[in-house]
Amino acid sequence: MRNYTQFYIDGQWVAPVTPRTTEVVNPATEAVSGTISLGSPADVDKAVAAARRAFASYGDASVAERLDLLEAIQAEYLRREAELGAAITEEMGAPASLANGFHTLLGKGHLATAIDVLRTFKFEEQRGVTLIRKEPIGVCGLITPWNWPMNQTCVKVFPALAAGCTMILKPPQLAPYSAQILAEILHDAGVPAGVFNMIQGQGSVIGAALSKHEDVDMISFTGSEPVGVQIQKDAADTVKRVGLELGGKSAWIVLDDASLAAHVAGATAGMMGNSGQTCSAGSRLLVPSARLDEVRKVAAEAADGVTVGDPTGNFAMGPVVSRSQYDIIQDYIGKGLAEGAELIAGGLGRPEGLDKGWYVRPTVFIGTNDMVISREEIFGPVLVIIGYDDIDDAVAIANDSNFGLGGYVSGEDLDTCRAVSRRLRTGAIWVNGGFDFHAPFGGYKRSGNGREWGELGLHEYLEVKSIVGWAAPA
Ligand code: NAP
Ligand code: MG
Repeated sequence: MRNYTQFYIDGQWVAPVTPRTTEVVNPATEAVSGTISLGSPADVDKAVAAARRAFASYGDASVAERLDLLEAIQAEYLRREAELGAAITEEMGAPASLANGFHTLLGKGHLATAIDVLRTFKFEEQRGVTLIRKEPIGVCGLITPWNWPMNQTCVKVFPALAAGCTMILKPPQLAPYSAQILAEILHDAGVPAGVFNMIQGQGSVIGAALSKHEDVDMISFTGSEPVGVQIQKDAADTVKRVGLELGGKSAWIVLDDASLAAHVAGATAGMMGNSGQTCSAGSRLLVPSARLDEVRKVAAEAADGVTVGDPTGNFAMGPVVSRSQYDIIQDYIGKGLAEGAELIAGGLGRPEGLDKGWYVRPTVFIGTNDMVISREEIFGPVLVIIGYDDIDDAVAIANDSNFGLGGYVSGEDLDTCRAVSRRLRTGAIWVNGGFDFHAPFGGYKRSGNGREWGELGLHEYLEVKSIVGWAAPA
């Protein structure tokens, strides 16, 4: 049992102003795994005041000092990486191999990237008579989701530290453990008091208090579209900068060539990774209509081959995060059946042999792009396959979405993959499975407005100042 009932404010572990706790449930066992405190606006006021005081000095720390700090954090992160992995498995149900692999690797990668970027980033540049300076924006509120907890926390905290900002982190109630360990890591690495603060609690209380706060300069949020909209409204009165990373319904276009079967199998298994709880997941798989028979067989085999079970064991897929997420996904599978999509793998209910834990069957439909299951983000292991007539049709279907977060193009001819990629209205596209920590990540349309990862991820936390007349006119 984990008892994480203190907050990290001004360099110390402190009790909430008004004690109130909630239980955290392990999604694999449905048993209570620990307790966290639920903060109040009074805790937020304390943390914001500490962050404001710390900004007076940390905002002026030199690049060399910030690099030293990030490198000290790196050493602590590596020392506690296995603990972070175990916490992630316990809080949100990722299989141990994934939690101790990609989950913690992403956090580590964002840290290394922040260090890399900081080493060469130009904070000052003279253009004509003007000096253009990039300065830290100030006190930041960071609000994160549960689905890739270390990824989404580290992609905010480390660029913000690199920029010279101070911050208050509000972790998700469903996955609060890894954030708690991260706060310990930052403390042990010697982050100055007040630079990083963490308050656990409800988004509607702590998140809203941060968004409305007079003395918070920026909110960076990753999560669902409705909450993103609410945060923008809450932040409007104080004209805060708001960076939003929201949901998606990303298309994966498989070209009509000899590699089709391999890509369909890879995309189907890929959709089931992290139990489908990935904002940029390729949840609409677009294939040539003429080859649907072949696709049906390959995709069904790939989905049926995904092993589901205890995340501490040796399975490809664990449970989804919570009972409520399980119910939402079941509801969507029911809607797919009701609107006449063809079910080719999985379906309603838990996988055979699992009667406890929020396990979902890896599910694949063949449907059309106008169905609810093709338009709304399900956030579970549910793939919709849609046939296209030709490349123009594939691009039109891919772009016919309210979202524009990810996109995938797979095929043998790189020139065709490139041409298709240029036509997709989305923030990030992966051609034949590429990966790059320096590639900006964020959404078009309702998928958001910010860009994280790499150099633009640092830029999120900077203000731009012009000093005209810095140099005398020539
Ligand atoms: P969520 O319900 O939007 O919650 C995200 C965070 O916001 C949580 O910490 C939540 O607190 C907090 N929150 C809730 N209401 C709030 C309010 N009124 N004001 C401020 N903060 C508030 O999202 P989720 O269910 O955790 O995560 C799933 C969603 O995130 C999906 O839509 C997914 O696509 C999206 N996502 C996007 C990206 C991306 O990079 N674009 C990455 C991952 C996930 P609680 O602890 O109280 O819930
Ligand atoms: Mg939620």
